[in-house]
Amino acid sequence: SENVVIVGAGTAGVQTAVELRGQGWRGGITLLGDEPYPPYDRPPLSKAVLLGDSGAGPVDVRFDIDFGALDVELRLGVRAGELRAGARELVTDQGPVPYDRLVLATGAYAVELPGTQGLAGVYPLRTLDDALALRPVLEARQRLVVVGAGWIGAEFATAARQAGCEVTVVEAAPRPLAGVLPASVTDHMRGWYEEAGVELRTGTAVAALEPGSVLLADGGRLPAEAVVVGIGARPASRWLAGSDVALGEDGAVLADDRLRTTADGVYAVGDCASFPSARYGRRLLVHHWDNAMQGPRTAAANVNGGDERYDPVPYFWSEQFGRFVQYAGHHTDGDTMVTRGDPAGPAWSVLWLRGEQLVALLAVGRPRDMTQARKLITRSAALDPLLAADPSLPLTSV
Ligand code: FAD
Repeated sequence: SENVVIVGAGTAGVQTAVELRGQGWRGGITLLGDEPYPPYDRPPLSKAVLLGDSGAGPVDVRFDIDFGALDVELRLGVRAGELRAGARELVTDQGPVPYDRLVLATGAYAVELPGTQGLAGVYPLRTLDDALALRPVLEARQRLVVVGAGWIGAEFATAARQAGCEVTVVEAAPRPLAGVLPASVTDHMRGWYEEAGVELRTGTAVAALEPGSVLLADGGRLPAEAVVVGIGARPASRWLAGSDVALGEDGAVLADDRLRTTADGVYAVGDCASFPSARYGRRLLVHHWDNAMQGPRTAAANVNGGDERYDPVPYFWSEQFGRFVQYAGHHTDGDTMVTRGDPAGPAWSVLWLRGEQLVALLAVGRPRDMTQARKLITRSAALDPLLAADPSLPLTSV
């Protein structure tokens, strides 16, 4: 019988193994991961894990999956270094691994601040090791500078304040989440930082790190015992350069709408791959948990002889400054924005219409809006903007 090899034992790799068995794959399944730990979930790393013991014992991030019972061969501490697609063989640091079908699920790695490689006191936040290394920093209530006011920067700053650290967030763009949300939305988020006692310095980049301080491009100097860098992630695909697997300029594995790569018998899922979205008419590279859960269902179906398209409504959540923030869909500058509730208050939403069609929703403390909107976005439902703006009415199509 045929064997499937999955490279990368994160959310997407694990979910691929689970889906394959769930969908009746009878051949072998080998799951390779380069980290030494049993497969674990990342979202808690920038939240509960940082604060450590909550009284109920340390936070357990391991997936609750019995790989033996699923007849999945889990090989940890194995790093794939080269793909020989012609020979259907992976070259790893533990020797060659042959495959009949291969699923790439190597995720992404945290972008480093230029010139800071190996510097003491500079921390990324991507892996369990990263999160564990930050715990003593928070326990010691060190004075911190966080670089990047994105999702990770905001979540980390939240935990660091809870731990009693003094925190300054430095963001090169003029506002938080500049690439993701319009100013009319992010202007309200500035207040979240302030309220939490976090100093937010926007519109200035980090020029250099010196022992004990951060120099800013605007000439400022911030004292810092530790620097946490949250400036984005890139697909972990360098090892595929020169193979038959085509990569995009952003480093993503170029998957097609069935999550096949350009190499025969090779598929790609999760943070490492982009895919063409028929729904939004463009290629998407999604770095969120839900995509790492949904893609594997399609990839597993296709590995198993099916012919399924992948065309999800992207979804993610973030927990920051005591708020539950959720976003679904995909909007562009040309879409009409409708505000639902008061963005200065604790619970409100913003939705985007293209013509009359609902294409995206941001919900802050309004999970019910999100539940309704995900269904409406999935079926490209039309909404009346006046009714949608009234937070006392449920979201429904016209
Ligand atoms: P990963 O989880 O990165 O797993 C890939 C695995 O492959 C890693 O273990 C890696 O070491 C391994 N690997 C890489 N290269 C090789 C190789 N050559 N050989 C062998 N193994 C290899 N999303 C949300 O929607 N909401 C959140 O609140 C949220 N919080 C997050 C908080 C943090 C701190 C982080 C880092 C991410 C968060 N995300 C969140 C995003 C979400 O966790 C990711 O989208 C998801 O983990 C992607 O899963 P993946 O399996 O594609 O990649």
